[in-house]
Amino acid sequence: MMVKPEEKFKGKGLRKCRICGSARAVIRSHRLQICRRCFREVAADIGFKKYG
Ligand SMILES: [Zn+2]
Repeated sequence: MMVKPEEKFKGKGLRKCRICGSARAVIRSHRLQICRRCFREVAADIGFKKYG
């Protein structure tokens, strides 16, 4: 697992989905910071098909 100093700092206590506001299973990769649920919905929209 790679944790950048920047993300380590900003990711502290800020793991909330930007869409639904949920803090469960939030993905922080690609700076999306959205939960897995919303990710699947927006993944196609942003052209991000590969996940998992
Ligand atoms: Zn969400």
